[in-house]
Amino acid sequence: MAKTLARKKSAAKKGGAKATPKRSAAKSATSKAAKAGGKYVYLFGKKTDGNGSMKPLLGGKGANLAEMCRIGLPVPPGFTISTEVCTYYYANKRTYPSTLRGQMEAGIASIEQQTGKTFGDLKNPLLVSVRSGARDSMPGMMDTILNLGLNDQTVEALSVKTNNARFAWDCYRRFVQMYGDVVLGVQKRPDEDHEPFETVIEKLKHERHHGDVEDTKLSVADLKELVARFKKLVKERAGKQFPDSPWDQLLGAVGAVFGSWMNDRAIVYRRKYNIPTEWGTAVNVQAMVYGNTGDTSGSGVAFTRNPANGVKEFYGEFLINAQGEDVVAGVRTPEPVAELKKEMPKAFAELERIRQTLEKHFKDVQDFEFTIEDGVVYMLQTRNGKRTAMAALKFSMDMFKEKLIDWKTAVMRNPADQLEQLLAPVFDAAEVEKAKAIATGLPAGPGAASGQIYLNAERAVVAADKGEKVLLVRVETSPEDLRGMIAAEGILTARGGVSSHAALVARQMGKVCVCGAAAIEVDYQSRTVKVDGKTYKEGDWMSIDGTVGKVYAGQVKTAPSEIVAGLINGDETAKKTEKFKHFQQLMKWCSDASRMSVRTNADTPEQTANAVAFGAVGIGLTRTEHMFFEGDRIDAMREMILAETLEERKAALAKLLPYQREDFAGIFRALKGYPATIRFLDPPLHEFLPHTQQQQQELAKKIGVGAARIHQRVEQLHEFNPMLGFRGCRLGIGYPEISAMQARAVFEAAAEVQKEGIKVRPEIMIPLVGFKKELDLQIEVVHQAAREVQAEKKVKLNYLVGTMIEIPRGALTADEIAQSAEFFSFGTNDLTQTGLGMSRDDSGSFLPNYQELEIVKKNPFATIDASGVGQLVDIAVKKGRASRPNIKLGICGEHGGDPASIHFFEKVGLDYVSCSPYRVPVARLAAAQAALGAKTGE
Ligand code: PEP
Ligand code: MG
Repeated sequence: MAKTLARKKSAAKKGGAKATPKRSAAKSATSKAAKAGGKYVYLFGKKTDGNGSMKPLLGGKGANLAEMCRIGLPVPPGFTISTEVCTYYYANKRTYPSTLRGQMEAGIASIEQQTGKTFGDLKNPLLVSVRSGARDSMPGMMDTILNLGLNDQTVEALSVKTNNARFAWDCYRRFVQMYGDVVLGVQKRPDEDHEPFETVIEKLKHERHHGDVEDTKLSVADLKELVARFKKLVKERAGKQFPDSPWDQLLGAVGAVFGSWMNDRAIVYRRKYNIPTEWGTAVNVQAMVYGNTGDTSGSGVAFTRNPANGVKEFYGEFLINAQGEDVVAGVRTPEPVAELKKEMPKAFAELERIRQTLEKHFKDVQDFEFTIEDGVVYMLQTRNGKRTAMAALKFSMDMFKEKLIDWKTAVMRNPADQLEQLLAPVFDAAEVEKAKAIATGLPAGPGAASGQIYLNAERAVVAADKGEKVLLVRVETSPEDLRGMIAAEGILTARGGVSSHAALVARQMGKVCVCGAAAIEVDYQSRTVKVDGKTYKEGDWMSIDGTVGKVYAGQVKTAPSEIVAGLINGDETAKKTEKFKHFQQLMKWCSDASRMSVRTNADTPEQTANAVAFGAVGIGLTRTEHMFFEGDRIDAMREMILAETLEERKAALAKLLPYQREDFAGIFRALKGYPATIRFLDPPLHEFLPHTQQQQQELAKKIGVGAARIHQRVEQLHEFNPMLGFRGCRLGIGYPEISAMQARAVFEAAAEVQKEGIKVRPEIMIPLVGFKKELDLQIEVVHQAAREVQAEKKVKLNYLVGTMIEIPRGALTADEIAQSAEFFSFGTNDLTQTGLGMSRDDSGSFLPNYQELEIVKKNPFATIDASGVGQLVDIAVKKGRASRPNIKLGICGEHGGDPASIHFFEKVGLDYVSCSPYRVPVARLAAAQAALGAKTGE
């Protein structure tokens, strides 16, 4: 690595001249900066170049270190190497801009001047930390190196200077361990359950101390021996000597940080959270301060408020005589930060002052790292704290009340894609009474989860793929466990605090998590968990409550959250809870902020009522075919399909009509005056017929038709490509009497409910239209039925007839179609299927690979393919409005409940989105945020 940077000039120039077209934009920016002798290194400390708004360039950590310096918080001096260098590094075959080395040297000189120490000095050596810092924090993804600058000589200097040999050698062994792991790649092999360096430590502890002692009890001689054994391990595994020169160490570390931007864990994380690869990471080099000089020192991680439940309390933890990594690694279980008040009252008071300053300045909950060196507090990092949905809600409401933020900011502070967590179930109180609590840990990720236990990530993933509900149980988690954590319902660890890796990641993913449950003994070898005198094997059930930190044996039934209990079940106690009230306030603000409204996809009165309770203002899609599967209706439907003459078909349809009428009336009542978009029959007819011989024989007996006839009809209806076959409006055109029956059922129900004094607003929707004529033929059938029913019932009905836009031809000829259609609803499921030519039912066989290869960033059936399918939507919106300016435009595909897609629909100017009932709150929040974002240009 050092050589690469030393060779920088020629390599950089060569790389710069050969820009590949794909990278040219990023490259031209960086090569321009390089030519102009661009600035790559930004100082912080006495002189601070950057500030908090420079996250794209300095990364989150670098920008906030600069900002903290600016507001006078105690930050050890250092410098940030900008993200442009990362971009340059990957665009130029892993080389650096020619001026970087010089700028780094100036950076180190500045730290030396501020600290009075010298890098590599044999009297008073400067040690630095090297940390990554992407624009968005990526916990556990990127790597940190502490105590850089130590070697066999400088360690002695440090020992003499501090008069603390134990401290100096503790720093050294940590450095060799971290550097060996992160830079030289000495890591756990697939067949190992423990990190190799930890194994070396354990072995030495057993040899010399007959068992498990705390790291702090290791003597100077032990630490010296560890350094020697570590170096030997490095030589064996990495095939090279551990570097002695501090500059070689520094350049290697910087390269490793940039290199880790492309490691598997970072890629998985970026994919999950949609962080563009192009952003790159910055590198922060900072003077070390030491939390491990003795009992007046320590390191900690704290939040200005509780990130699990949102309570306004100083929340966090620390370890006496330890460096920061010990706290987050979860190797030792730290103490709550409140304990510091007793142990180091002065430092605690200073931290309280910092806590207030941070919130006042950043106006958001901060998650910060600090070190206390001989009683003096230093700040190493601050960032907006990750939080559960529950905490986000409480923070936003409390900070609004405290006048720290306005209501619009409060809306923006609730992540839409996390909101579902608030609706997640909790354990049924009665069931918990009966359940056996076997251990307690820290409540790290709220909610209730029950699952079959697995002790490693790979096996957890395999089990989850098989459809099992999985609980990942580990001694502690590390970034390697990420895939397993994603697959699991919940995570349980035996060690580690509330800011351990498991806790941080779980919180962010919205996973239920209990950590530090010390009573459980996890044995990776035998794949068992021992607790409370009992042994549990992989595959056995356990349940965890991440809100209170309890672990239960077996499977515990869950109950709905207060919000669901209050809104859906009308539970009065639930309605009195703070969580319920906050949720309702948020939803009200969402309505105030939104331009688009939110409807629901519902096929039954119950679903409709639930969605209305969640704030839906109408139905955007009723799939009428779902109604034919209930009870005996399917038989009438089958008779209709098997009918040989029009008369027979009409007779069968007449049997279906009352069912449909009843369904629609129930839905209209549940809607209480809101509009209902009712879609006519859509799926291919063969879906309604039985396919096995036995089922066909049973049906034959039941409805008195020969089994041979049924078999023949099934054969007749067979299609090679049913999704592109005889379905949608093609059915209504082939058999207008089906549409006539459905229209009559809608209007008769409308007349009935309207007479009860309830406003009814049916919107009849014709599916799969590609030609105006298709729609015209169906509209005529609908109008005819309306005329008849209005005359018979002597009522006047208000209704609309419109269409789905769900095949490309429909979108491209939307101007023609809009001459007849009074509304469009985008069927983005079919529009994605036909626009991409990818079967919505079969794409599972290749889409994961496509995502892996980043051919598609997200699953296009979940998040709208904005630049492709989105164009079809945009064209149809423009053409539709051109020929009918007041045309109503909505979306009812699955994308209607997806926050990212909702932002797109806001941009193209739809009037509403429609989604399943339980996603209505998410859609309302996303719609509000999209509208607020559009106003502020975000
Ligand atoms: C669609 O295609 O997006 C749609 C809502 O209809 P369905 O999913 O029923 O085909
Ligand atoms: Mg469709």
